[in-house]
Amino acid sequence: MSKRKKIKPNRKPKIVRDQSWKQRVLRGEVREVDLPEMERILPRSREEDLIRRRMRIEQEIQGQVEAQIEEPEIPAGWQQGTVIQISTSIYHVDLGQEVLLCGARGSLTASETGYTNVVAVGDRVLVSVGKAGHGVIERVLPRQTILARPDVFNEDKSQIIVANVNQLLIVASWEEPPLWLELVDRYLIAAAEGHLTPLICLNKTDLAEQEQDYQEVMEIYQDLGYQIFYTSIVTGQGIAELRAQLINRSTAVVGLSGTGKSSLLMAVQPGLELRVGEVSGYDGTGRHTTTQISLLRLDPSGYVVDTPGIRELGLITTRRHELVLHFPEIAALSGQCRFSNCSHTHEPDCAVIAAVEKNKIPVSRYESYLIIYESMPEYY
Ligand code: GDP
Ligand code: ZN
Repeated sequence: MSKRKKIKPNRKPKIVRDQSWKQRVLRGEVREVDLPEMERILPRSREEDLIRRRMRIEQEIQGQVEAQIEEPEIPAGWQQGTVIQISTSIYHVDLGQEVLLCGARGSLTASETGYTNVVAVGDRVLVSVGKAGHGVIERVLPRQTILARPDVFNEDKSQIIVANVNQLLIVASWEEPPLWLELVDRYLIAAAEGHLTPLICLNKTDLAEQEQDYQEVMEIYQDLGYQIFYTSIVTGQGIAELRAQLINRSTAVVGLSGTGKSSLLMAVQPGLELRVGEVSGYDGTGRHTTTQISLLRLDPSGYVVDTPGIRELGLITTRRHELVLHFPEIAALSGQCRFSNCSHTHEPDCAVIAAVEKNKIPVSRYESYLIIYESMPEYY
C-alpha cells in the first residue's frame, strides 16, 4: 500500500503540450547518435544486442503502424479471422460466422520479432482448414498496435498482451483503492509505446466529498491533453460518454483490481458476453502462470479487452534517458538545465527540480518520473 498515495492537488500554470520530440523519436528521426552516451556497464556485445532488439521492435511497430489496413490477398482455401482467445497453444479464431479452433503452422516463428509469442489475442490471421475440420494459422497479418510487457525470464524479449486495439482505457478509482497516479503515468507510457490512444477513466466519483477534489487532481492530465472520463456506477455519471467512446472501436482496459473495470463494462453494455482467453507468463517466484484475457463484443460493433492482473505494461522500447520524452512538461524544461545530459534526478542547477520546487511541474508527475527512472535498468 505504501506506494499508493494520494497526491495533494498543487497549483500549476497551464502547460503547453509539446510532443514534437517524442513524435520525432517515434518516427525514427532521432537516431542513436543523437542520444546521450549510454553508460557502459555491460560488455559491448550485450549492450549492442539490447540496442538491436529495441530497434527491431521499434521498426516493427513503426512498420506496422504505417502498413495500410489494406485487405491482404487470401490464397485459395484460406480464410481471414481474428484471434479472440488462446489456451495452451489452441487458438480460437473468429471467422465472422463461426469460431474455429486452430493450431499454428510450425514455420511461424517469433524469434526475429523480439516477442516471445508468435500469435497474440487480437491478431488478424489467415487460416487454412484441414480435412478433419480443424484449422491452422498460416500467417499473422501486420499488427497496427501492440500492447506488450517485458518478458520476465527473457530480458531480450517482450510478450504481446493484445494486438490491434486502438485505445487504452486506463481505469483508476478515487477511493477503494485510492487513486494511484504513478500507475496511471506508467499506463500512459504503455499506450504511447504501443501507439494506442490513451483514455483516462476516474471511477467511483461518488466516493469523493466534492467534485472539485478529483477535478483538481486530474486537471494535470487535462492540461496535458488527455481525454478524461469521470464515472460512477452508483450515480451513473459519465457512463453514456464512456460508451460513446468505446463503441465502434477496439479498446484494451487496464487498471488495478477493484477499481471497477468489470462494473463499468457491464454498465456500458448490460449483459455483454464474456469470452475468456489466457496469456501465459511467470510470477515473481518463477512459476508459470496464466492470466485471463477477456474479449467483449460491443453492440453494434467494437470490442473491449479486459486485462485483469496485468500491471507491468510498457517500458519496452523506452530507455532511461528517453523516459523524459513521455513527460512533455519535464522535457520542455530540459534545455534549461546546466548539464545537457541532465537526468533531472539530482543534478545541480536542474531546471526541472527548480520548477517542481516552485510548483510549476505537478509534484506527482515528477515523483512518477523519479520512481520509473529508478526502476529502469541503467544500461537500458
Ligand atoms: P475490477 O476488479 O476492476 O473489475 O472491479 P469490479 O468491477 O469488480 O469492482 C470492484 C468493487 O467496486 C465492486 O464491489 C463494485 O461494486 C465496486 N464499484 C465499482 N464501481 C464503483 C463506483 O463507481 N462506485 C462505488 N462506490 N463502487 C464501485
Ligand atoms: Zn535537469
